[in-house]
Amino acid sequence: MQETLVQIEPKPPSGDWRDPQVEFHKGAMCYSAAAKNLTYLGLPNPRTWQPYDADWKLPPDWKNIILAGMKDRLAKYRSFRLFMDICVRCGACADKCQFYLGSADPKNMPVARAELIRSVYRRYFTLTGRIFRSLAGGRELTEDVIKEWYSYFYQCTECRRCSVFCPYGIDTAEITMIGRELLNLIGCNTNWVLEPAANCFRTGNHLGIQPHGFKDSIDFAADEASEITGLDIQVPINRKGAEILFVMPSADYFATPHYYTLLSYLMLFKEIGLDYTVSAYASEGGNFGFFSSHEMMKRLNAKIYDEAKRLGVKWILGGECGHMWRVLHQYMDTMNGPADFLEVPVSPFTGTVFENARSTKMVHICEFTADLIHHGKLKLDPRRNDHWNVTFHDSCNPARGMGLLEEPRYILNHVSRNFHEMPENTIREQTFCCGSGAGLGSDENLETRLRGGFPRANAVKYVKQKYGVNLLTCICAIDKATLPTLLQYWVPGVEVGGVHELLGNALVMTGEKERTTDLRGEPLATEEAPVAAESEAAHA
Ligand code: SF4
Ligand code: SF4
Repeated sequence: MQETLVQIEPKPPSGDWRDPQVEFHKGAMCYSAAAKNLTYLGLPNPRTWQPYDADWKLPPDWKNIILAGMKDRLAKYRSFRLFMDICVRCGACADKCQFYLGSADPKNMPVARAELIRSVYRRYFTLTGRIFRSLAGGRELTEDVIKEWYSYFYQCTECRRCSVFCPYGIDTAEITMIGRELLNLIGCNTNWVLEPAANCFRTGNHLGIQPHGFKDSIDFAADEASEITGLDIQVPINRKGAEILFVMPSADYFATPHYYTLLSYLMLFKEIGLDYTVSAYASEGGNFGFFSSHEMMKRLNAKIYDEAKRLGVKWILGGECGHMWRVLHQYMDTMNGPADFLEVPVSPFTGTVFENARSTKMVHICEFTADLIHHGKLKLDPRRNDHWNVTFHDSCNPARGMGLLEEPRYILNHVSRNFHEMPENTIREQTFCCGSGAGLGSDENLETRLRGGFPRANAVKYVKQKYGVNLLTCICAIDKATLPTLLQYWVPGVEVGGVHELLGNALVMTGEKERTTDLRGEPLATEEAPVAAESEAAHA
């Protein structure tokens, strides 16, 4: 199948590109949202349908709903109106999207993706478009256009890579967000987005794990961390009056390799004596509402802040997660903030004031840990990670959404002796997406994911061949869930893990028993480092 996926041929569409030509086939599309999930969330037009059906059972006045929705959002979001007006079609973004690079489908060029909705804007919301219609670049809003929106706005992971290269700062991710929001108004949503959102709304987390199940999972992890270290590690749940509320993505307590990161958090908090609590109500850092609409994102994010208020904590610490951080840094303050009832975060161990979290009152675990290391508060033995040759994937949202570029590298350079960067144009602000973010991480659209993830996998292959890299680290729950499949397909032999997993391996805890295995139960290397294929310094 690899041969089939790499055989791509860029070619312009036959006929007028504005004629919607969309074809849904199994393996490359997400299924529609189950009616029950729309009902749970109070969303319009719950029904049974699939994208490959001829009749999508749209509401009779669907066209008016969409145009009214566009009018409303053009007035409400200045960025949306601006992005509709200012694109000069320079093409700088055209080859920057991993979905275009992996599929060669011209409509996966960011400029063309935006044009799908911009052409409708031009037709109905500009004077020239109303008079001259297609001659002014406008197109009629038809059911086929809606189908095209559904196809291409769910082939965009809202990663914002294209925006880095646009001289006008046009953020196609924001256009995709509006496109999906409009589709929501007429009941066109995917189940992979809405089921986690509905579960989160009802029980606090994506899988719908009830509070007693949450407690069981956390207690299980605490027992395992105790067994590994020989120390008594306990985790407070819903404890009022704790200094800090710790929020993590739910995958940390039900999936691997995320779980190894959770073990490390518990060990770190034990070692430094952190006064913290986790919460069975705010038991999800991830926010699938973000992939559906601004309103849904706001509803789910509010739970974290409501819980911080109820428990009376001073500030919030957040785990390795992707879009949780983009929601926090780009939207929280105007959606649910300002969180004036919380204090500006200060590390109780170093006195560092986290000025960047002055409005959100929420600190990223990498910022917190890097600060501890910087102040010499942790004893680390990087030799314990000598069995890993490590590289780092900048997860799109912490990297481009909040500028968290240095802290993960600072940690990695202190817990590993074999850290190697991927090529410059594939990391930091220019990082390639995993291809499965923004609700694309299901199995039913694997072909799309493998295509979209190809540029990332290709960069991993480069460092595997050059340095013998066998571990791709990252700080996003979606990455940890989806990159293993991507790498098994394109670069077998490279595992995926969290940055804090390596921290947990290297952390020498006070009074711990001699450790013989890493957090995965694999034999721990403590002798001289095995030689990497070639050292990075040698190539500097
Ligand atoms: S780079 Fe910006 S201005 Fe140029 S085509 Fe892309 S979105 Fe339009
Ligand atoms: S936001 Fe990312 S996935 Fe979407 S068009 Fe831009 S580069 Fe492609």
